[in-house]
Amino acid sequence: MRLSVYKVLSLFKRSLALNKPHHVQWMLTNRCNYRCKSCGVWREKRPVMELSTKKVKEGLNILHRLGVMEIVLSGGNPLLREDIGEIIDYASNHFITTIYDNGSQALRKIEALRKVDFVAISLDTLDEKKYDHLKGIHGAWKNAMNTVQTLHNQGITVGVSPTISQLNMYEILDFTEYFIEREIPVLYCLYQHDSLPQPLFKIGENDKELEIIDKEDLAGIFTTLTKKKRKNRGILITRKMLDTLNELYLTGHRAWDCKALQSFFMIDHLGRVAGCHLQEPVATIFDLPNMWQSQRLERLRKTYQKCTKCSYMCYMFYSLHANVLGNMEIISDQWRNAKTILKRAKN
Ligand code: SF4
Ligand code: SF4
Repeated sequence: MRLSVYKVLSLFKRSLALNKPHHVQWMLTNRCNYRCKSCGVWREKRPVMELSTKKVKEGLNILHRLGVMEIVLSGGNPLLREDIGEIIDYASNHFITTIYDNGSQALRKIEALRKVDFVAISLDTLDEKKYDHLKGIHGAWKNAMNTVQTLHNQGITVGVSPTISQLNMYEILDFTEYFIEREIPVLYCLYQHDSLPQPLFKIGENDKELEIIDKEDLAGIFTTLTKKKRKNRGILITRKMLDTLNELYLTGHRAWDCKALQSFFMIDHLGRVAGCHLQEPVATIFDLPNMWQSQRLERLRKTYQKCTKCSYMCYMFYSLHANVLGNMEIISDQWRNAKTILKRAKN
């Protein structure tokens, strides 16, 4: 983890800036070695094309100048890039940097991961057979469990990231308990499928087995997580998010306006930018500084603000915590979790 005084002060300054994008997810590659049921990435027969290391660094400089505070490196599997160590090194100088892995690559790139702020390993269940079925790979569960434990033992800040679906929702409380008892934080996603025709990146595959049917029960699970969170550290979801999810699954009411292209945006493996992965690209990262204030993007912001085409948890989170107050809420909420990590680092 790289938290220099320069980085902390610079992040604080950026958190106060108005009308700036604070969160970016960069899907660095469309390569993936897994075959997940919920995912469209591996089904796309597109050739492997990626920006060069130099271009990625150029893009990161632009993001820094735009005021971005947090960057999530994903894909595909970003750890399949040969230059990922160099990218992490560069990104983590300026941003709170999170990287995703399916549990198959992190141990091969362990030295590079020492510099990242957070490693999120996808893991949906404690049931080995079920997980291998979800990932389409024999041995996926063992890989993920071993990776999480090894990174944790090595002092790398690692958490597990389950995607909640109909298939695992009734296990999610026990799953949470298992990991927080071991001081491994849990960062949740929610199964969704993409419903727009020209997405930037095809991620959410429509799968009836995963579609959440028991909505009231899921609302109840979010209520229990809220209670658990009061007593335990390591549940990496804010209370505001849990309340909003509870309301969504209980009543269908969306208590947030989407802030795509305002507080957050996505970049794909070719450097194209869209408000979220479901929307069409609107620029490249290299054109964005000249376009950020344009009337065209302003019009799109207004359209996206009314959009109800998805409830992906990350977009909901960035929308709910979009202003200065929201950033402060995240900091105070996560401070309790950070204390656990710092305490562990001292022992
Ligand atoms: S969900 Fe992640 S690990 Fe699974 S196929 Fe898609 S990109 Fe790969
Ligand atoms: S609600 Fe927002 S994040 Fe979801 S599809 Fe619409 S613009 Fe994208």
